[in-house]
Amino acid sequence: MVGAAGRMGQAILRALDAAPGVAAVAALEREGHPDLDGDAAEAAGATARGVILSADIGAALQPGRVVIDFTAPGSTAALVSRAAAAGCKAVIGTTGLDTEHLAAIAAAAEQTAVLHAPNMSVGVNVLFGLLERAAKALGAGWDMEIVELHHRRKKDAPSGTAERMATVLAGARGLPDGAIVRERSGQVGERRDDELGVVAVRGGDVAGEHTAFFFGDGERLEITHRATHRGIFAAGAVRAARWISQRDAGLYSMADVLAL
Ligand code: NAD
Repeated sequence: MVGAAGRMGQAILRALDAAPGVAAVAALEREGHPDLDGDAAEAAGATARGVILSADIGAALQPGRVVIDFTAPGSTAALVSRAAAAGCKAVIGTTGLDTEHLAAIAAAAEQTAVLHAPNMSVGVNVLFGLLERAAKALGAGWDMEIVELHHRRKKDAPSGTAERMATVLAGARGLPDGAIVRERSGQVGERRDDELGVVAVRGGDVAGEHTAFFFGDGERLEITHRATHRGIFAAGAVRAARWISQRDAGLYSMADVLAL
């Protein structure tokens, strides 16, 4: 588990503790993290297992292991390349990745099995399919917008899930490149027909809430997913790790794990 002292890292250590047939064999953090050298599971509120929080990623990358990464974009790209070279498989939950980071993930997936998902909840992955159906069924003339809410400590915006929702909607409707609008301020003029707005709201302890709006003439459809605790993402990450341990090289998504 990389990012083991983070919010998701701790939730995943607890989920691993509770799941039969899987176990955390290494818990990794950045150099200088104040919790290094302590029992990682115990710090997460799980049963102590003698897995010590360490910054020695090299020692942890052993062939056949599955690396779960919930850290930050800069660290993810380097990690996935090292994991592939070491013969490890990888489950990546980190969001806010740019095209360079995504290219590093795609290159690693030529060597090993890599699963990358901005949201590991079952509900959100079903939501992606519903959005595609709705966008196609409603068709042009229905304006589409996305609003997402997250806790005050989230570092990237819009969320990776909102970005994926926007990509799904734009693809289903055949919107041109540049249709997704992440900021509106000042004299922006009237909304274009091919525009797709994405708005991020931050505050409190919101685990994650995403709504797609479809605005018709005289009616409006809203499809919302609400996460009420991080355990759903952690359970998804553990399920993904178990699934990918049996897969050959390739780039996979949660839709593959959930057979959607
Ligand atoms: P967090 O800040 O609580 O935790 C991140 C942890 O990673 C920190 O403890 C940090 O010290 C550690 N870290 C940073 N760089 C590192 C490095 N080079 N090596 C080792 N550890 C390093 O954040 P969080 O809320 O746990 O979220 C982490 C990421 O997961 C974010 O990108 C977030 O958006 C994403 N996320 C994804 C899902 C999903 O389902 N895919 C769900 C929730 C959050």
